[in-house]
Amino acid sequence: MTETLLEIKGLRKSFGALKATDDVNLDVQAGEIHALIGPNGAGKSTLIGQIAGGLKPDEGQIRFLNRDVIPLSVAKRARMGLGRSFQISSLAMEVSALKNVILAVQAREGSSFKFWKQVRSDQGLMDEAMIQLERVGLADSARTVTSELSHGQRRQLEVACALALKPKLLLLDEPMAGLGAGGSQRLTEFLESLKAEVGILLIEHDMDAVFQLADRISVLVYGRVIETGTVDQIRQSAQVREAYLGE
Ligand code: ADP
Ligand code: MG
Repeated sequence: MTETLLEIKGLRKSFGALKATDDVNLDVQAGEIHALIGPNGAGKSTLIGQIAGGLKPDEGQIRFLNRDVIPLSVAKRARMGLGRSFQISSLAMEVSALKNVILAVQAREGSSFKFWKQVRSDQGLMDEAMIQLERVGLADSARTVTSELSHGQRRQLEVACALALKPKLLLLDEPMAGLGAGGSQRLTEFLESLKAEVGILLIEHDMDAVFQLADRISVLVYGRVIETGTVDQIRQSAQVREAYLGE
């Protein structure tokens, strides 16, 4: 028996006349990496926004750990274990990498991200943050000011911040974007190593990474899931090749 982490039914969201999310059904099981692929503008980020809570659906259901989360705030969902990879823009650039992770740990415990000056000097907190930095390979840069980290290191830092929230489901929106081949490969291996502890809904254009990581793939086109299947099923699908892979 697998545990259903996330279950989405009949989800709809329009911007004016544009149906950005059009009757989407999708689920993520514990221990699963479910990849969401589709062309630019297909509605992938809009879907993630509704799951994380920044965007309110027009219709449909989002159940996380068997609970209706639509009425819940972003912060409440995060505390339930719905983790969204931090956008680089949400990192505090003027403080160290370590401090950013400490802020994430504090956010899990309920305090706001904005009050970075109120970082507690607490050894337990610091140790926990260091562990996350070590896991993503950033321990050597713990004391580096975030604005001085490379693009790739900031992506690693985002993942460390997301993990600090101890999520049960991680929502990742194009984590490989802007990483070189080596960086993508390292992140791919790292995400693989996370599978036992956290389910992942992975939006990614890097098809090598998707084919390597995904247990299932859903293909989103014009707001609709046109197909969900295993890597082999999706690779062989004539409909997907035509609509998305352009073959
Ligand atoms: P993807 O992440 O798959 O590239 P998005 O979810 O970002 O696609 O966008 C889906 C569609 O919704 C696009 O046509 C985009 O222009 C539109 N869209 C996204 N957010 C908004 C918004 N806040 N207001 C109006 N249109 C939006
Ligand atoms: Mg997007």
